[in-house]
Order: sequence, then structure tokens, then C-alpha cells
Amino acid sequence: MLLRHTTPEVAERSALTVNPAKTCQPIGAMYAALGIHGCLPHSHGSQGCCSYHRSTLTRHYKEPIMSATSSFTEGSSVFGGQANLLEAVSTIFHVYDPEVIAVHTTCLSETIGDDIPQIIQKAKEDGKIPEGKFVIHANTPSYEGSHVTGFAVMTRAMVRYFAVKRELGADEGWKAERVNIVPGWVEPADYREVKRIVAAMGLKSVVFPDTSDVVDAPKTGSYQMYPKGGTTSADLRDTGVSKATSALGPTASALAATELETQCKVPAKILELPIGIRATDAFVAALIAQGGVVPESLVEERGRAVDLISDVQQYFYGKRVALWGDPDQLVSLSEFLIDLGMRPVYVITGTPGKQFDRRMATIMADRVPAAVVRQGQTADMFYMHQLIKRETVDLLIGNTYGKYIARDEDIPLLRHGFPILDRQGHAHFPTLGYAGTIRLVEKILSLFLDRKDRDSPERSFELTL
Ligand code: SF4
Repeated sequence: MLLRHTTPEVAERSALTVNPAKTCQPIGAMYAALGIHGCLPHSHGSQGCCSYHRSTLTRHYKEPIMSATSSFTEGSSVFGGQANLLEAVSTIFHVYDPEVIAVHTTCLSETIGDDIPQIIQKAKEDGKIPEGKFVIHANTPSYEGSHVTGFAVMTRAMVRYFAVKRELGADEGWKAERVNIVPGWVEPADYREVKRIVAAMGLKSVVFPDTSDVVDAPKTGSYQMYPKGGTTSADLRDTGVSKATSALGPTASALAATELETQCKVPAKILELPIGIRATDAFVAALIAQGGVVPESLVEERGRAVDLISDVQQYFYGKRVALWGDPDQLVSLSEFLIDLGMRPVYVITGTPGKQFDRRMATIMADRVPAAVVRQGQTADMFYMHQLIKRETVDLLIGNTYGKYIARDEDIPLLRHGFPILDRQGHAHFPTLGYAGTIRLVEKILSLFLDRKDRDSPERSFELTL
């Protein structure tokens, strides 16, 4: 047993984290930046951080993830990284020619206290930023927050640097009819699904960030450093003239949406991530309020999802589930599981934030008595394993790091969230919307029935279940 030292007795900790249920802030900033068209993320710190962040994204998305680094050495660690960043900006535009450089900091540059806006201003004054090109930044020290908050602050930076409330030209009136969608940290297939739903409801949209056709770009035979996907800087600028914003997932998306509301007076609606019927209904209702019309095809799609759920409900009823991962995913997934008749009894996120407790309490109400919900530093995989050892569950839902618990405790694992390092295909199928609901139900059901087939004695081994 790989985790044989985990004991069922929980000793409350105030400082130590063992196998965190989160990862570095800069990874989220890097992923968000990839959702801008023609953008090269830049890690302002040492090479080691950048390599780790790139490799984690590369292993999850199975695509080469590009990022530059300020390559701090001993000198920059002592005297600051201004000279490195100035030289990097100049070299990057000269050699790699991106439209946008998105700089994020690391623990090291934050501890030194490098003033990134001042360095960007100096790069402008020194003529290192070509006309029509942009350098944006987000502060992402990893001794606070998580990859989700890193994603959130880089998405907010897109608003701060690009969004403008401006007078529209005679042929630009249609831009005022668009809606902004901030979908949060989801898979490229989810961005595509969100755009499909919005378009099916007859709305034009600006979706940002948008990593579809960037981290899942098709193989064409020739390498493209900047694939065709991503939100353009022109569209990011015009988020400021859209008629409304929907933020999907408060933790990852609310910062950008509220910034846009403050900066450009675009009204923001903060929603939960549309996982499952209920949360997708809320998203569709928000789009209706913004002028969308529900087509018959979407009604039928919802009907198919509801039909599937009612067909298989008996396999789900009363099942105990342990979940870990990102707050936005966990809140919507928990609600969905409860609606399916299951009981999310342990819900853990390493991403700190008191709002999570409040949101989970709203979802749980009194429907899952004695559920353990925990966020922050001590909400880690070790604690999750201890809970499971005390009283086991029927299903695990979370990222790859749960495979050790799954193996030791012999519990089925649904890989969901970030990172998934040991499977392929997760980037290609949505889990958002009604289509995503169908996929999730199918995957959960297969896990339960595979287990039933494996464990059934011959006399009760059935061809049809
Ligand atoms: S925790 Fe800090 S130092 Fe370590 S990889 Fe992340 S950003 Fe770099």
C-alpha cells in the first residue's frame, strides 16, 4: 500500500499541508493567458518555476505549452528582476513576435518586491513594446491562493489592461448587443460548449479567456506557435461596450466580471459553473434575461439529459462520494450529485476562501447531514484519506492525485478537474451544459456498473443491468 502510513485518527493541524489539494498560482495565470489570441505567457522568476508550471499544463493538455521566463539567477534574486524583464520583453517581441505578453510573478519575484507595472512602463518608454502590441501583468505569489486564484487575477488583468468604455462607430452598433461570458477554468471543450449554447440562443458573445483551439489545436502538419484560438485583444477591448457579463464560477470569474462592472459599467451576473441540470438552467435563464431565446434543440437536449437521469437514478441513490479540487467545480458538482440522489460526504479544496463554506452550506442545506466540507491549507489529500479510512465512500471524484487513495482503498475514481496527468481525452469532452451532464452521468454510471460486474458472484452476474 503506497499510503500505508495514513492513519484514521485525525490530528488537527494549523500549519502543515500534506499532499495539497491545489497547485501554484502562476499555473492558473499561465493557463488564463493562453486564452488570449497570440499571447505568450511570461513567468517573472526562476527557470524552475516556469518549467514546473509549463510541464504541469503540458501533461494535462497533452500539448506543448509555451512560456518565457525572466530566468532569475543569484544577481536578480538579490537586486531584483527589472533588467531581466526589460531584456525579456525586447527579446520576446523580436524573436517570437506575440501580440500580447502576459507577465505573472512567482514567489521569488514577489518576495523581492519587483514592481511590474513600473517595469512595463519603463519598457514602453524605452521603446521595447512595438506599436499595437501589449504587455499585461498579474501578481501571483504562490504562498497564497492557488492555481484558481492565479487564473482569476490574470483574467481580471485582461479587463484592467484592455477593456474600454468608448463611443462606437456607425458600423459598430452590434458590439453593444454582445454579451460577455467569463467561463472560468474549464476544459477547451467546455469553452466550445458554452459558445455553442450562447450562439444557439441567438446571442453574440465575447468569451474570455478561451483556450479552445489553443491547447487542443488540431494537428495540421505544421507547427503554429500561436494557434487560431483565444480571445483577440480587440474583443477584450470591446468587452467594455457589451450589454452584460455572465461570470461562471465565482472563484475563477467574479473578479473579472466585477472589475468590468466597476470600470465600464457593464452589469455583471455571477453564476455557479453550469454543471448539471439545475446550474445549467440558471445559466440559460441568465442568457434569457440578456435577450437570448431558447431554441427547441436546447429544450430537447435538456430533455434527453433528464430522461437519462431518471432511467439510471436507482444506481445512484444513497451513494457516498468524496470530492476534491477547485471550489467552482466542487459547488456545482455537489449540487448535481445531490440532485442525482447521491451524498457528497467529504468535499475538500486547497483553494482558500470563506465564500466556499457559505456556498457549500447553501447547496447542502440539510440534505447531507454530517458532510465534511473544508477549504484552505489543511484541506489536503492526507486529510481526505483519513476521513475515508474512518468511513469509506462509494466513489471518488477529483484529479489524478486521488489515484493513490483509489488504489489503497479500492474505490472507483472519476477523474475530473486539474490536473489529470494519467489519462487522455478529458480536454475533448465538455462537462458543462446539458451535453456535459449526459457525459458525467454516463461516466459515473459506468464506474458503478463496472464495479458491480467485477464484484458480483457468478450466480448474480447479469448480461443486462
Ligand atoms: S510554489 Fe512558488 S517557488 Fe514553488 S514552483 Fe510555485 S511559484 Fe515557484
